[in-house]
Amino acid sequence: MHNKTIKELSALLHSKQVSATELTRHYLGRIDANQYNAFLHVDHERSLAQAAAADVRLAAGNAGPLTGVPIAHKDIFVTKGWRTTAGSKMLANYESPFDATVVDRFAQAGMVTLGKVNLDEFAMGSANENSAFGAVKNPWDTLAVPGGSSGGSAAAIAARLAPAATATDTGGSIRQPAAFCGVTGIKPTYGRVSRFGMIAFASSLDQGGPIAQTAEDCALLLNEMIAFDERDSTSLTVEQGNVAEDYTRDLNQPLNGLRIGVPKEYFGEGLASDVESAVRAALDEFVKLGASLVEISLPKTALSIPTYYIIAPAEASSNLSRFDGVRYGHRAAEYRDLQDMYRKTRAEGFGREVQRRIMVGTYVLCHGYYDAYYVQAQKIRRLIADDFQAAFADKCDVIMGPVAPTVAWDLGAKANDPVANYLADIFTLSTSLAGLPGMSIPVGFGQGEKNAKRPVGLQIIGNYFNEAKLLNIAHQYQQVTDWHTRTPDGI
Ligand code: GLN
Repeated sequence: MHNKTIKELSALLHSKQVSATELTRHYLGRIDANQYNAFLHVDHERSLAQAAAADVRLAAGNAGPLTGVPIAHKDIFVTKGWRTTAGSKMLANYESPFDATVVDRFAQAGMVTLGKVNLDEFAMGSANENSAFGAVKNPWDTLAVPGGSSGGSAAAIAARLAPAATATDTGGSIRQPAAFCGVTGIKPTYGRVSRFGMIAFASSLDQGGPIAQTAEDCALLLNEMIAFDERDSTSLTVEQGNVAEDYTRDLNQPLNGLRIGVPKEYFGEGLASDVESAVRAALDEFVKLGASLVEISLPKTALSIPTYYIIAPAEASSNLSRFDGVRYGHRAAEYRDLQDMYRKTRAEGFGREVQRRIMVGTYVLCHGYYDAYYVQAQKIRRLIADDFQAAFADKCDVIMGPVAPTVAWDLGAKANDPVANYLADIFTLSTSLAGLPGMSIPVGFGQGEKNAKRPVGLQIIGNYFNEAKLLNIAHQYQQVTDWHTRTPDGI
């Protein structure tokens, strides 16, 4: 049952071959037995109550395609009635009085919340080792990291603890864990998924999206996830009137004539040979499907790391100032005065990486440094976006390359080396800085004894609002390959 896709589960639910309650019990049993530290909060009673309500809708014949299908939410989307921690001690006992728009939309669609999944603290990380509640293990190889920051979401799909998960991507946090865990994820165009109730990290970059087994499932999830939200000041809409986009509409379009841009900067020094060969084999498969490969250049790629690691901490330092021991969450037990209370609360509540970013962010926003760092980074951000537009203008329809330079690394290997983590983001940051949609699909495994079970992801980047095209491309690939159906041993 747990290897079924959302599409398949939906058919079983609608034909009454399985009930939402049975399905929910099945997944809750798997979650209870999981050894990956993927879930932070589960509440059987709550999930089963939602399942019972879904069964009523299914019986009454007013169910939608997602009604009764279980979903896990990244613990950065606030949820009424469940704790929301953002992976931080600061919010260890926080319960929101309202649901995030994304959570609410899926609940309205009749999806059953299975629980909240682990993540890097405030979504800052590339390995899920920055969670205050412990690292998540990669279900393919429990000695490896699952990727971050949506490590819990990706691990939950890989271990079949849920058929669907929400995730967020600020600089790669949907694509990179999806790649490391051998599952499918898409980060839509910035502004397409509501950020209302998604705890803010870097507001000009943060974007929600789904992780699931297949591109088709991601399309079904995006149909609910994407909608204009007046409560999010950067919510975008391209719909005519009130007709929502159907992300499944182009899934079956042939790929004849598709021009795939292959950036030379994504295949240079630093790319592991096993990742390169899996990615190149996937590109060959696209050629068989009728596409052509065009070499392109994204010359500012290397600048994406310093640019992102100025802008994201700057925004984080501002966003996280609200965690002051007064309005939300943790407060130090003993203090002398207000200043001391702030200092102790924030020193106790935030982990090392979050503190590092607050310090870097505060520094680059300081009077005297602002022009030299922050303003400069904003200018380079524009140049990075221009690189993509130059490629899309006349050379290619989409861009493909690796998601990350290597397969998942060992737990602990980079835990005390922030820069090593930052460098591993090299292929995902530019897309985020440009606000473009990007996707990760499984295309093979690493080589050598150690890496043989560690998945490789292919990144597919499109122009603004081209989500349906990305899903079409990924779906066509998944029709002729079976990497997305593979599961870790024993699952
Ligand atoms: N790894 C990046 C960071 O640590 C991206 C994280 C994310 O996308 N949330 O900031």
